[in-house]
Amino acid sequence: MNWFIYNIYFPVVLLAGKILRIAPDKTELYLIKLNNRLRGKGRGKAEKILILTPSCLQNKDCTNNVVEDAQNCLKCGKCKVKDLLALSEKYKIKLVVVTGGRLARQVLAETKADTVIAVACEKELSSGIIDTYPVAVHAVVNQRPFGPCVNTDVGIDEVEQIIQHILK
Ligand code: SF4
Repeated sequence: MNWFIYNIYFPVVLLAGKILRIAPDKTELYLIKLNNRLRGKGRGKAEKILILTPSCLQNKDCTNNVVEDAQNCLKCGKCKVKDLLALSEKYKIKLVVVTGGRLARQVLAETKADTVIAVACEKELSSGIIDTYPVAVHAVVNQRPFGPCVNTDVGIDEVEQIIQHILK
């Protein structure tokens, strides 16, 4: 059933949204919410879970290379990389900061994680959910107070609730 939903239903809904000229964010958000409902709790062991977040979460003036290694964050608190790192340490879950969807897929293949908590915009999340099936993606839509792709934000409580939900 899940195979049909992710490989047929999701792409068809995206295509139908384009044909019917529905705002892409609306269609993508519908699929993200549906996906998050479908992903049950208790799936994962901490070592098989990955938190993936885009590099636009990092403060744009920060020169620490958190894409190479999230541990390079000096935890100054100017962006939420610090808070995600704190969650990753608390729950012993790997955190990776990526520059885009292609790198995210590469990291996923390398780490062999079976569960991902992915922070991104609606477009990246909806395509990532489809492309990485059967990996369980728990999607968190980022906040973009300064517009797309710069100094973005994320609800840390939401991410922590998802971690607890998965580990139950
Ligand atoms: S919290 Fe980390 S990544 Fe963010 S600005 Fe400070 S040092 Fe840089």
